[in-house]
Amino acid sequence: MTETRTATTASAIMLTSVNPVSGEPIGSWAIDDAAAVDAAVERARSAAQQWRDLGFAERKKALRRWAAQIINNVDEFCALITAENGKPTDDAYLEVILAVEHMNWAGANAHKVLKPKKVRPGLLMANIEAVIEQRPHGVVGVIGPWNYPVYTPTGSIAYALAAGNTVVFKPSELTTAIGHWFVDAFTAANPALPQGILSVVTGPGDTGRALVESGVDMIAFTGSTATGKRIMEAAAQRLTPVVLECGGKDAAIVAEDADIPAAADAIVWSAMANSGQTCVGTERCYVVESVLKEFLVEVTARVGELTPGTSYGPMTLPSQIDVVAEHVGDALAKGATAVFGGSESINAPFVGPIVLLDVPEDSTAVREETFGPTLTVRGVRDVAEAIELSNASRYGLASSVYSRKRGTEIARALRVGATSINSPLSYGGIPALPFGGVGESGIGRIHGAAGLLGFSRPHSIARQRFAIPGMALQSFARTEQTMQLVRKITARRFGRAK
Ligand code: NAD
Repeated sequence: MTETRTATTASAIMLTSVNPVSGEPIGSWAIDDAAAVDAAVERARSAAQQWRDLGFAERKKALRRWAAQIINNVDEFCALITAENGKPTDDAYLEVILAVEHMNWAGANAHKVLKPKKVRPGLLMANIEAVIEQRPHGVVGVIGPWNYPVYTPTGSIAYALAAGNTVVFKPSELTTAIGHWFVDAFTAANPALPQGILSVVTGPGDTGRALVESGVDMIAFTGSTATGKRIMEAAAQRLTPVVLECGGKDAAIVAEDADIPAAADAIVWSAMANSGQTCVGTERCYVVESVLKEFLVEVTARVGELTPGTSYGPMTLPSQIDVVAEHVGDALAKGATAVFGGSESINAPFVGPIVLLDVPEDSTAVREETFGPTLTVRGVRDVAEAIELSNASRYGLASSVYSRKRGTEIARALRVGATSINSPLSYGGIPALPFGGVGESGIGRIHGAAGLLGFSRPHSIARQRFAIPGMALQSFARTEQTMQLVRKITARRFGRAK
């Protein structure tokens, strides 16, 4: 069951990606070793000045041309996404348009968010003009996963480019063809721009490690928590800044006043779409006891209508099937009830929907990322217990809340980076909302103004406009009278609490 989806040849220099259902090869590429990665970073560095000097308006146009190139060839792109990742074509299309929305937003808002801003210098520095200028980091290395191979890297790539960085992108080894198509679309849309503004490097984790160690000025990583920790450790050697978008174990809370059929519909989609291989998909569900029975009836009816292979695709990463099997087996062994499906639903490369009731909180199905079309459901006394159990996780990526009246109140009590109320995952489709987790779900933010700021660094500029005679504090010519005056003013300003 755990055969790898990428194969290397005997000389170990080629990578072949395959269709997760048929096993047919999609393409083969030479693996980029450390020298090849360094060369790509060097090209990106050579292009950096020209890209930065283009300014916000021209970079916005380049991003729009990229978006147009993708949308004008979207059927070809979606067919490739379906072939290499396995997701249904409509899901591929939704992923692509979300990515394009982000490209558009990043390009359109970069100037507003990152333009120089004057700030008040304060009384002591009244003769100084104080300005914050945001500068791009330089070359950003982006490392992506396979589950949303277009949408997730776009959240880093588009924002990094809009902020004036050049980018070297290492897609997942499982979705290399998609990564190449995506980057080639940028080049095709912008033939007049120098090479190296956005380029791709190919290979497995070792290629990613080489990118982290290459001396790039920032790393933006999306993938598992285990890899995120390794990347942070490697980046620490040079104090390279990182944004880490890692795994999750997202909870949904269903309150007693929820619209139960609507909540069941949203939660089933969130848990099962993309065969559950969604970082922010619902994996745990806490339902107030008084509505649990009705909720289970609605959930069961909906999952009963799903057909693996049509409603959602295969498990893209074969070894993940073993993880799903282990979590389901552990839950059942510890006394959980299979409300729908069970171990028999696992039929590689597909996994049918599995709904488990009363899974002990210490089992892997509740504590670890399952990343399959599974849902654990637990009845709780009240919303307070649901919040406590939701927060009792080392992860803290996102969450959802279903309640007619208390949605915002419940959302505020959750220790996560994002919450959707009465809808699944809607924050991810709103480019202005920052995205990222807390705890072991990661650090830093992509998307929104926070994302643009994260792909830049503030440069503080303090310019003396005129000298104040006799008030030189930062000079050996400072006088006793000046200090007496400063002491008097300071005592007046801060000596009394209002
Ligand atoms: P992964 O961690 O196995 O791999 C992610 C990327 O890191 C791949 O490109 C891989 O080649 C590379 N990599 C592996 N080892 C590396 C190393 N030592 N140094 C540098 N790069 C290395 O993750 P995956 O299986 O591709 O993706 C699934 C995971 O991603 C899940 O945990 C999921 O929750 C998470 N994810 C998170 C988000 C988010 O926004 N938080 C979004 C999508 C997926």
